[in-house]
Amino acid sequence: MKNLPILVLLCVAACSAYPLEQTAKNKDTSMDLVQQYLENYYNLAKDAKQFVRRKDSSPVVKKIQEMQKFLGLEVTGKLDSNTLEMMRKPRCGVPDVGQFTTFPGSPKWRKTHLTYRIVNYTLDLPRDAVDAAIEKALKVWEEVTPLTFSRNNEGEADIMISFAVREHGDFIPFDGPGKVLAHAYAPGPGLNGDAHFDDDEQWTEDKRGTNLFLVAGHEIGHSLGLFHSTNPEALMYPVYNPLTDLARFHLSQDDVNGIQALYGPPPASPKEPAVPTEPTPAAPETPDMCGPDLSFDAVSTLRGEMLFFKGRHFWRKSHGTVEAGFYLISSFWPSLPSGVDAALEVTSKDTVFVFKGNQFWAIRGNEIQAGYPRAIHTLGFPPTISKIDAAIYDKKKKKTYFFVKDKYWSFDEKRQSLEPEFPRQIADDFPGVGPTVDAVFEAFGFFYFFNGSSQFEYDPNAKKVTRILKSNSWFNC
Ligand SMILES: [Zn+2]
Ligand SMILES: [Zn+2]
Repeated sequence: MKNLPILVLLCVAACSAYPLEQTAKNKDTSMDLVQQYLENYYNLAKDAKQFVRRKDSSPVVKKIQEMQKFLGLEVTGKLDSNTLEMMRKPRCGVPDVGQFTTFPGSPKWRKTHLTYRIVNYTLDLPRDAVDAAIEKALKVWEEVTPLTFSRNNEGEADIMISFAVREHGDFIPFDGPGKVLAHAYAPGPGLNGDAHFDDDEQWTEDKRGTNLFLVAGHEIGHSLGLFHSTNPEALMYPVYNPLTDLARFHLSQDDVNGIQALYGPPPASPKEPAVPTEPTPAAPETPDMCGPDLSFDAVSTLRGEMLFFKGRHFWRKSHGTVEAGFYLISSFWPSLPSGVDAALEVTSKDTVFVFKGNQFWAIRGNEIQAGYPRAIHTLGFPPTISKIDAAIYDKKKKKTYFFVKDKYWSFDEKRQSLEPEFPRQIADDFPGVGPTVDAVFEAFGFFYFFNGSSQFEYDPNAKKVTRILKSNSWFNC
């Protein structure tokens, strides 16, 4: 599985439409094309030579059907003219099905800042045109993710970009003009993440030859961990599309969904108001993050980061960084209230629920989900409950615990209902915590309970408090 090319654009020279009556020689060429296409991209066994044209059980017919389905053709299982025409189109050489799509897990970069290097240049274009095409291709992905790219002019980079012909050192030789246009490798060290372009193609800035930006955009999608899309509108569709409107190029929703499934959306959507870099002029309410008495309204995780809510603001901290960012709640979620009571992330739903008074909101990234706020009583709380103090999702048990005064409720996420034997006393089930709780969140398998300026690190397996900390222990004070 190591070092297989993720993208090889197979550019078959323009052929005339498939003639139904052919000479024996033409027929052989067509059969070779079909055989090779299905072997390369649909994992057809190399010994599946015999074409049984009208037997639905034939492995070749099955593979033809698979190919027709993937590429959005009518599924006939026959080599009709549309199917042959599709097989002759320039396309990505990475398999559409088979070994690549069954890659264990989803290969992705475990960091958001990546480096790239343009190792050498094609003579087809001026250098700055190559630079611009690559930059534009990177930007396409940068705009919809938290990923950022910077260029190295020497040494190693995560994404090494090069132009080469024929055998070029990775056992996947290029093939002269046409057919294979380029290939790229899934995220990882060394050769992984790299993109190679076949310099026997005529690379262009427009649509006369092979557009470098379009191919690079697709390749870099693979370098970032994407596989092929079955959506013909998508940049990750395997077939090169010479009709793409370059002036109005944009990723399809399918591409965006794919890359955001790996890396999430950008930190703040450009449509939202800019995130303030310093505390707003409303200084009197600005809390001192290192003050000895600092307490929080609510604490939650969000896609691997920690959010600490306080009044109109929140601090946002990722495990890897020293400094916590400080923001207005309204700059991320304009319709969310200030002074929230509780917040929790249900990781299995990629959703953060935020509570205030008798209402709650559901957030994904920086979007509030439709249909919210909802009343907390829709969760099954009795009318006497007017607010939640704190909440946490227990990943292991798939339960959400709601803390109200000195008691807590357990909500079964599977059955979507409060469990009948609750509420119970916090002190009985979380010894050492309480009697009341301001906020709680989970990190590294521990529950961290906040009460005023104190924080209790609680081991849910051992059922005991393991450390007592200051509430702001997560900040670099
Ligand atoms: Zn591809
Ligand atoms: Zn290569």
